[in-house]
Amino acid sequence: MVTQLFDAVVVGGGIAGTASAYYLRRQGLSVALIEQHAPAWGASGRNPGFLWLQTKAAGTAMEFSLAGRRFVEALAGELPDFGFRACGGLIIYRDEAFAEAARAFVADRAQAGCR
Ligand SMILES: Cc1cc2nc3c(=O)[nH]c(=O)nc-3n(C[C@H](O)[C@H](O)[C@H](O)COP(=O)(O)OP(=O)(O)OC[C@H]3O[C@@H](n4cnc5c(N)ncnc54)[C@H](O)[C@@H]3O)c2cc1C
Repeated sequence: MVTQLFDAVVVGGGIAGTASAYYLRRQGLSVALIEQHAPAWGASGRNPGFLWLQTKAAGTAMEFSLAGRRFVEALAGELPDFGFRACGGLIIYRDEAFAEAARAFVADRAQAGCR
């Protein structure tokens, strides 16, 4: 039985499973990672990899997202085949009437911790 051979068994080779396996292994545990198809076969292999900060509300959601950003930046410095590029976001308005709302939005996001 795989559960008798390893300290931990992680099911699913997406970001959640591989991250769990990675950090368990770093703690010194022996880990079996079981994937039914191929690594990143699910949502983790099909998304564009955006880390949105500007859409998060101040408080818990923003703190959680900033922690996520620190997490991927740390991983990018640690893993040879993982990268992260902070490139910001662009919201375009064409009508001058939206200028005030856009400025308020930017000020609100900056105050919430988005950077
Ligand atoms: C189109 C799309 C765009 C997205 N865009 C973004 C984005 O820009 N930014 C962002 O942060 N998030 C985005 N997401 C969300 C993000 O991709 C998911 O939240 C994340 O990948 C989920 O990771 P996971 O490891 O929980 O699941 P998954 O990546 O789905 O991994 C689960 C794995 O478990 C395996 N599995 C399931 N059952 C078993 C079993 N019984 N035995 C063995 N293996 C099993 C599956 O094959 C799969 O590989 C997007 C999602 C989608 C679908």
